[in-house]
Amino acid sequence: MSSTTTAEIIVIGGGLYGSCIAYNLAKNGASDVVVLERNGLCSGGTAKSCAVIRTHYSIEANMHHAVESLKIFSNFDEIVGGDIGWRRTGYIILGPEEHREPMLKVFRQQNKYGVDTEELTPSEAHDVHPLLSFHDVSVIGYDTLTGYVDPYLTVTAYAHRARELGATIHTETPVTGLKLDGGMKTVETPRGKFQAPTVILAVGPWTNQIGEMIGVEFPYAVSRHQVITLKIEQDYDRDWPIIKDLTTPDKIYLRPETGGMVLVGTGDHGDPITDPDTLTDRVDREHIERIGVLMANRLPAFANAECTAGWTGAYDIPPDWNPLVGPVEGYEGLYVAAGFSGHGFKLAPTIGEALAQLVLGQTPRTPIEMYDMNRFSTGKTLRGIYGLGSIS
Ligand SMILES: Cc1cc2nc3c(=O)[nH]c(=O)nc-3n(C[C@H](O)[C@H](O)[C@H](O)COP(=O)(O)OP(=O)(O)OC[C@H]3O[C@@H](n4cnc5c(N)ncnc54)[C@H](O)[C@@H]3O)c2cc1C
Repeated sequence: MSSTTTAEIIVIGGGLYGSCIAYNLAKNGASDVVVLERNGLCSGGTAKSCAVIRTHYSIEANMHHAVESLKIFSNFDEIVGGDIGWRRTGYIILGPEEHREPMLKVFRQQNKYGVDTEELTPSEAHDVHPLLSFHDVSVIGYDTLTGYVDPYLTVTAYAHRARELGATIHTETPVTGLKLDGGMKTVETPRGKFQAPTVILAVGPWTNQIGEMIGVEFPYAVSRHQVITLKIEQDYDRDWPIIKDLTTPDKIYLRPETGGMVLVGTGDHGDPITDPDTLTDRVDREHIERIGVLMANRLPAFANAECTAGWTGAYDIPPDWNPLVGPVEGYEGLYVAAGFSGHGFKLAPTIGEALAQLVLGQTPRTPIEMYDMNRFSTGKTLRGIYGLGSIS
């Protein structure tokens, strides 16, 4: 097939960001939005996500987006439409002595944003989560608003609403070429060409594959992250809070899962890889053993936990671990939303909304100019108090 389809705006990528941006474009007035996804909807990093929706960030812009996005996640049916499996659990964050002052500062900042984070004593925290051990912990923070969602339901809900508002979504449509001659941009696929004056790249770790087509290198590295699920003999309550443990070198987090299981991920850099297409879901034995030791220290009931499953996913990590969102300098009508560094799920509703508003010439409701990729040449990089990592 060698047809040419024209559109007002083309979004490349049908993950969380592609579908969220398409919905927000259509909702804010774009009449002819086309999404091109090489596989099925939600088949990239979003499908591997633990989808924890927390607001603890020391970088204020991230906290602002996380808080505003949490309002959308937790009222999704009313605001966007659809059931995304929202489950509110609350969040316990554990820190070492060196993080005490910075963490308390973040709690106060969260309070200003309407999040009810407070410092708990070990005995108070034990009432909230009876399996935790606090013997080597200096700070315990707790909020009741954090939760998690189902990634597939979230992407398909955004896509469904985007379609209802007039967008067209082509799955199984890989972009194989991008030409930027003149005002119209041409996107090549095996299903024919698509042309539009505006193209948005929402392809996560694959952004540099598209970048190569136009001679642009986006500033991020790709790494491999492992998630495992653990099960113990006694019941693990699905309503116990999500835990983030900043005392561990891997900055582990854990989240209740169905079937009495607990899902454990890490907030460290992970293993560098060059090509996200080389990822398999194989999890390393050494990783399971290392996480097992950290878990047994934090939750002694997990000393003999069974590892029931595991998978891997790619993080796209800019030098400061923060998003790359906005216009691509020197290429009028080309925009990017990438570099979410393993913490982009919780930020998507308002970053997607803001980028759509920017593209349509409107003022973003929640500012995104701090995520412009030029920050690496202007020295305005985003630095959090915990150093580099997915909690910044
Ligand atoms: C293991 C793991 C755990 C995570 N846990 C959390 C968490 O608990 N909380 C949180 O906030 N964040 C988390 N994240 C991060 C979050 O899930 C991501 O930031 C977010 O899902 C990224 O969405 P995306 O749309 O940018 O990328 P993707 O979901 O990767 O979407 C990109 C899409 O582009 C498509 N594509 C690629 N190349 C082409 C092409 N040539 N043509 C057409 N389509 C193409 C891909 O198929 C894919 O569907 C986690 C990430 C991982 C990997």
